[in-house]
Amino acid sequence: MKDDNFLKEENARHLWHPMGHPGALRETPPRIIRSAQGVSITDQEGHSAVDAVGGLWCVNLGYSNQKVKDAIAAQLQDLPYYSAFAGTTNPSAIEASHAVCEFFAEDGMARAFFTSGGSDSVDTALRLARQYHRLNGAPQRTKFLSLKKGYHGTHWGGASVNGNNRFRIGYEPLLPGCFHLPSPYTYRNPFDETDPATLAQKIAAAMEDEIAFQGAETIAAFIMEPIQGAGGVIVPDASFMKLMREICDRHGILLISDEVITGFGRTGHWSGARHWGVKPDMMTTAKGITSGYYPVGATLVSDKVAEVFEGAGAEGAIWHGYTYSAHPVGAAAVVATLEETLRLDLASNAAARGDQLFKGLQALAERHEIIGDIRGGHGLMAGLEIVSDRGSKTAMDAAGMARIHAATYEAGAMVRLGMHNILMSPPLVITEAEIDTILTALDTGLAAA
Ligand code: PMP
Repeated sequence: MKDDNFLKEENARHLWHPMGHPGALRETPPRIIRSAQGVSITDQEGHSAVDAVGGLWCVNLGYSNQKVKDAIAAQLQDLPYYSAFAGTTNPSAIEASHAVCEFFAEDGMARAFFTSGGSDSVDTALRLARQYHRLNGAPQRTKFLSLKKGYHGTHWGGASVNGNNRFRIGYEPLLPGCFHLPSPYTYRNPFDETDPATLAQKIAAAMEDEIAFQGAETIAAFIMEPIQGAGGVIVPDASFMKLMREICDRHGILLISDEVITGFGRTGHWSGARHWGVKPDMMTTAKGITSGYYPVGATLVSDKVAEVFEGAGAEGAIWHGYTYSAHPVGAAAVVATLEETLRLDLASNAAARGDQLFKGLQALAERHEIIGDIRGGHGLMAGLEIVSDRGSKTAMDAAGMARIHAATYEAGAMVRLGMHNILMSPPLVITEAEIDTILTALDTGLAAA
């Protein structure tokens, strides 16, 4: 490996980072993460920290799963690549489609379309939703509904249904016909409503109103995360997704559950939709599908959707796909990851360790006045909203957040910042002692603000 100075200089000179300012990153260079073992990462300076981010909500199995590594290595020997465009397929892709559809069978998923990541999966779902309605005799159903604070990736479709301005402004105009409803975010919302169940009712009413205004017959799909992740770990009331399902059903609108974070056990259930007792029409997945070891995503569709495509004439052909759709190495990673995810019963560990983390965060809030809101309690997703004043809910400034982040890292845990939120999504294999390490480090970090 090249020496430290080379890496630092070249990073500043040639590497543009996602979600970062290329100029500012020269002044404040990013940490170089050199290696990882178990649930810990080690940087170029030799400092180790428990990775409370799980890479980017994805390294569910931690960094040392030998079965997945071996499966990837073996597949590279047998068949490093072949296309799955109509006419050819490969054994790993077939096995992976079986594994992922079995995994989500209880959610009603019947077919898998593989992609290279979450943004691909979202855009695939949006495109398939329009085509579904066209095949179904309703070509005017082209619009999309979504939630503010939702995150659905940064392709054009995903950015258009995205509910955070940062990913939109600067790239407009986006896809026309995308409309956003309020987020089930009790800490701040336009209704000043703090009761989650009442807020859910109010958003449902807003959705009915928007559908009436647009005309139900013009709307293709509604996309939502069962728990909003990047937007700050926003947990809706238990009634919320069911209400959304019921409204979609009544108006012939497809429900897309964006499970890029919530799928594969993170919420303590095998899918976020199942967590809320809902069966979506489509699911978008990525991240935990390979534990981040290989870039793969999948868009899954129910029998209802599949039958329309499969029963159609020539126009049922899917003129959409990626060179790396059903990539054999990625598919081998999927098969091994899903086997390991089930064998280790990651959902159960996520539920138990998630409870521990949430209780620990509640205890921290008693000591740290700057914690405005604590969100989580459903598996291993947690968020702390940091304020400079609890009464006025004034958001902590960027400098304060940077101090918390740096001090927490020095004290032994890597957390993620999303504006003035601290976000956590550790590997689902994490132990009780490692959760304690995160909490102790955060205690130190919060004191530094
Ligand atoms: N949807 C959701 C819910 C996500 O959290 C993300 C990524 N954080 C995406 C889509 C986009 O995935 P990717 O970054 O793999 O393109």
